[in-house]
Amino acid sequence: MLIVGAPGAGKGTQATDLAAAYGVPAISTGDIFRANIKNGTDLGKQVQEITAQGQLVPDSLTNELIRDRLAQRDVTPGFLLDGYPRTVGQVDFLTDLLAEQGASIDAVVQLVTDTDAVVERLLKRSEEQGRVDDTEEVIRHRQEVYATETAPIIDVYAARGAVVEVDGMGTVEEVAQRILAALEAKGFSPAA
Ligand code: AMP
Repeated sequence: MLIVGAPGAGKGTQATDLAAAYGVPAISTGDIFRANIKNGTDLGKQVQEITAQGQLVPDSLTNELIRDRLAQRDVTPGFLLDGYPRTVGQVDFLTDLLAEQGASIDAVVQLVTDTDAVVERLLKRSEEQGRVDDTEEVIRHRQEVYATETAPIIDVYAARGAVVEVDGMGTVEEVAQRILAALEAKGFSPAA
């Protein structure tokens, strides 16, 4: 499964809970990049500036990272990707990678949110957590990148009948309930 939504739509929190409900790992490319930056790895050095500016890391780097991650054992029962794919090029890569194993994405949870409300939420978070790099300019830029680069991937998956649209406004619990209900309605029940 994939979870897709604008930056600040609450994807990360929902991804963790949803993956736990389905008994699969939640894989966040953003978290992997942040861990690499924190540990000062070569990859971290390559992506530090790019992520701080709210740009997308080049597909070549991101796709190889996903190839490695999806080669690990824990994804055998399935997986939930959070923050990947983010471009149509990444969708094509993922589709081919999974097809090599006779697999495909079953469902794409799309969290639908209001941009102004989300920007406000992010500004509050950056103040509370002292994320000095998250200026309003960077936050707005991330929303624009989402609209131009990432939103088109939803059309690709919608054409495959895989998109499950969920209202992402409300409390964490409300949204989590909506996601589970929408997936069950599509025939995807969590692990017993
Ligand atoms: P996130 O926590 O998912 O918002 O990711 C944080 C940052 O990591 C993004 O703003 C991008 O700079 C980078 N990033 C994460 N996932 C991707 C991806 N799939 N493609 C390109 N860049 C990504």
